[in-house]
Amino acid sequence: MSCCSEKGCCGRIDFVETPVAEIYGSNCFSNAVMRELLPKNIYKEIVAVQNGEKELTLEVAEVVAATMRDWAIAKGASHYTHLFQPLTGLTAEKHDSFIAPTGDGKVIMEFSGKELIKGEPDASSFPSGGLRATFEARGYTAWDVTSPAFLKTDPTGTTLCIPTAFISYYGQALDEKVPLLKSIDALSKQAVRILKALGNTTTKRVYTTVGPEQEYFLVSKEYFDKRSDLLLTGRTVFGALPAKGQEMEDHYFGAIKEKVAAFMRELNYELWKVGIPAKTQHNEVAPNQFEIAPIYANSTAAVDSNQFVMETLKNVARRHGLECLLHEKPFAGVNGNGKHNNWSMATDDGINLFDPGENPESNARFLLFAAAVVEAVDRYALLLRSSVATSANDHRLGANEAPPAIVSIFFGGPLTEILDNIAEGKAAGKSAMGEQIKIGVTSLPALPKDVSDRNRTSPFAFTGNKFEFRMVGSSQSIAAPNTYLNVVVAQVLSEFADKLESHSKGGGASKVNETIQAIIKESYSKHRKVVFNGNGYTDEWVREAERRGLPNIKNAVDALTVLARSETVSLFENHKVLTKEELESRYHIYLEKYSKQINIEAGVVIEMARRQIFPAVSAYAAELARDASALAAIHAVSAPQEKRAKKIAEISNDLYEETAKLETALGEAQDIEEAFAQAKAYFEKVRPAMDSVRSKSDALEKLVSKEAWPFPGFEELLFKL
Ligand code: ADP
Ligand code: MG
Repeated sequence: MSCCSEKGCCGRIDFVETPVAEIYGSNCFSNAVMRELLPKNIYKEIVAVQNGEKELTLEVAEVVAATMRDWAIAKGASHYTHLFQPLTGLTAEKHDSFIAPTGDGKVIMEFSGKELIKGEPDASSFPSGGLRATFEARGYTAWDVTSPAFLKTDPTGTTLCIPTAFISYYGQALDEKVPLLKSIDALSKQAVRILKALGNTTTKRVYTTVGPEQEYFLVSKEYFDKRSDLLLTGRTVFGALPAKGQEMEDHYFGAIKEKVAAFMRELNYELWKVGIPAKTQHNEVAPNQFEIAPIYANSTAAVDSNQFVMETLKNVARRHGLECLLHEKPFAGVNGNGKHNNWSMATDDGINLFDPGENPESNARFLLFAAAVVEAVDRYALLLRSSVATSANDHRLGANEAPPAIVSIFFGGPLTEILDNIAEGKAAGKSAMGEQIKIGVTSLPALPKDVSDRNRTSPFAFTGNKFEFRMVGSSQSIAAPNTYLNVVVAQVLSEFADKLESHSKGGGASKVNETIQAIIKESYSKHRKVVFNGNGYTDEWVREAERRGLPNIKNAVDALTVLARSETVSLFENHKVLTKEELESRYHIYLEKYSKQINIEAGVVIEMARRQIFPAVSAYAAELARDASALAAIHAVSAPQEKRAKKIAEISNDLYEETAKLETALGEAQDIEEAFAQAKAYFEKVRPAMDSVRSKSDALEKLVSKEAWPFPGFEELLFKL
């Protein structure tokens, strides 16, 4: 295995020589670094900009840029790049060097305030869904001060990376970041209104915090390289399950193999350097499946960090002779990859708004915010569903290892009981000693801190002091799910705030408490149907959810249509997060992406079936036939060879025909112009045709010799590293 020359690579990380605390954040232009290096007044300005209190001026940017440049150059950087997240879901970058020729054949290293604040990557080939014509292709990147700049290092060099937002010449959002930033503002505004109404005079701003748990597979690079499906689509489009799958559950939380441990050590090292607090790692349910979770951060930094985590997983894996698979379903028949998006809201003075409190005031606040989430998830279930709607995630949602496609909330018994009691105006149970539940007075029992029966099957679970949105796909950016979540909760909070402000005017604390009680009662009675604490993987739940009227949208194409609805447009426009035009463009881009993805996969199925599987199996059948005649010539038993050859020839014929049918379905889908109709055709016609080809191939794989099969199978991919 080749090894890079960088210190710390390939199992040679010496944490005695370089303690973790020294490594941590050494490549991150964090607030701590800015506090140390910037003049005091400039640092203060930057913090004010981060808090949304001020606009960034060019004067301030000049000073920051010069400091950032010197810091980066001292650490070996030659280039800088504005990182942005176009609607492909990937991270894009265009690199510029710091050099500026001086005219005498020499250069100096320059980086101006303007270059820091604004980039012009052109980038006209990124999807804009019609928001810019290529003749007016200018797109700008603008520095996102809420997410720190950092240095990306690889074995040969260092680049300064500046997280940015990507907008068109006319100011329209072309990326995932702009709406995210706006959604945080929208949520903050409404949450602060509520807090004010509750008597809080100190909080100026509310943040969302996010901690994503990232699942992935590792496979040997040697085997990966032999499979064009993995190379081109990130998943296997063929493959029969080996005799052993995940049924022994011997991988989950098992001892981490040395090779994987070495990979993880280097991964942590790379993440720590840029200030990503990688914390937890373990084996997951499927063979060769793993998870990494950093400690949570503010949501913009968490979104950027997660993009970096995904990229680093892939890069570090390659240095260890491995490939990292982030696809939602790399292997049919074993668990897929998800990403649990842990989400919470915190005030600038350090209060987690989903922390069930220890005193009556914080209890009241918690219950009010929790009720808002219940209402938001119920009313906007379709929108949340759409934020995770990709062709890859379709393989996962509703399959029996992942949350169902039905959006519901888990609260755990004790909390649900309290909310139920409020809704019904009943006593609070034993702990309330038979009194009516009153919010904001001591009769409310201390809320349970830990929701003990942790439910792994719920798509949206309350886990102690945060909500865990578990439908998110492993390979997708977490920007959209968080943006939508922020917007829907902002909407409900704004309605709660309207009521609080008008009903409790001049009435003092008791009037406020009465209003809170009334709001929760009204909201929860109407929306508690979305709360479900049972096993979400069962068929019973599917029937029960239908009875409750909860939507169950099993495919991404239908799930995306909510983006085109007028209620969605007014929701996003009300909170100034996306305009009608921007939403329309996104709807189209997501549909197109869906179609493109399946188009590629179908193409790969045809290629592999025709050019690898068919030739291999017909050669093998012919070999068996020759063996059969040779054996018959000496009057030996030749029936098994003959039967096997016939069986293979028969299924090869089916494979041949199913491939032709797939090609026809694919051609028909490609000819459809309208984006929705096209995506629908890919879903309804092309995907089933792909499955039919696969089933023939998988049957053949079980009949031909291992040596004759043209590429490595699941046994190699899932059990060898
Ligand atoms: P699990 O039991 O689901 O594996 P963990 O306890 O490992 O969950 O935590 C999952 C993630 O939740 C971590 O990234 C953690 O930092 C994050 N988390 C904890 N508190 C919060 C919070 N207040 N806001 C957002 N994320 C949080
Ligand atoms: Mg989790």
